[in-house]
Amino acid sequence: MRSFDTIVIGVGGMGSATLWQLARRGQKVLGIERFDLGHSLGSSHGVNRIIRLAYFEHPNYVPLLRRAYELWREAEQLTKEQLLFVTGGIDAGAEDSRIVQGALTACREHDLPHEVLTAQETQQRFPGYKLPNKYAVVYQPDAGFVASERAILAHATLAVSAGAEIHGREKVLAIEPANGRVVVVTDQGRYEAGKVVVSTGGWVSDLIPALKTKAVPERQVLG
Ligand SMILES: Cc1cc2nc3c(=O)[nH]c(=O)nc-3n(C[C@H](O)[C@H](O)[C@H](O)COP(=O)(O)OP(=O)(O)OC[C@H]3O[C@@H](n4cnc5c(N)ncnc54)[C@H](O)[C@@H]3O)c2cc1C
Repeated sequence: MRSFDTIVIGVGGMGSATLWQLARRGQKVLGIERFDLGHSLGSSHGVNRIIRLAYFEHPNYVPLLRRAYELWREAEQLTKEQLLFVTGGIDAGAEDSRIVQGALTACREHDLPHEVLTAQETQQRFPGYKLPNKYAVVYQPDAGFVASERAILAHATLAVSAGAEIHGREKVLAIEPANGRVVVVTDQGRYEAGKVVVSTGGWVSDLIPALKTKAVPERQVLG
């Protein structure tokens, strides 16, 4: 049975980035993806995903985002492909809403460039938006989007260049503990590793049944 330091299960948005980061640290890593790299059934498919420095959920995300921006720029330099597009972005809602107040708290705590706009000011500057009059808007000039599907290929390419092995069209069926290590069972074989990273997105509870009631996939509709 072949042996690895770490096996990354699921090579989508998260798994591909994880593979690159582990491989560049000198780990012997294997990535296993049940479909092709960059397919239309996962969460990362399509052209883009929004990114910003301040997330309304918590100011603690800001240092992670600063680091993420650095890593996107590094990946771009290495692959010679633009992955992060800074366009500016808005969070909008009722003035006392969690979205607006949370985004503002994160901006203020971390001294991030931002502007607070009324609905009318937003409409004048960005005529595509017609917001309710009472809405407040937090504009972040550093927000933008990541080319999400291209990013999977970019990260996978960087991972392989750094020594990672990636298997497509191989489905992981089970993870079994084995004397302090782990055996990963797929529809094509068995592999052993010191650690596994389960980055199977919406399928995560197939391999970790304890998450069945907590990680319930839901459809996200873009407007
Ligand atoms: C429509 C939509 C809009 C979104 N908008 C935003 C946004 O604007 N900004 C933002 O930050 N986030 C956004 N998100 C969320 C973001 O896209 C996801 O958080 C991210 O793509 C998740 O990546 P992932 O690697 O966890 O999942 P995925 O990319 O789905 O990767 C999981 C991979 O695991 C593989 N896999 C599953 N089971 C197995 C198995 N048994 N064996 C082997 N491989 C397996 C799958 O085939 C898949 O390739 C959005 C999501 C959606 C759906």
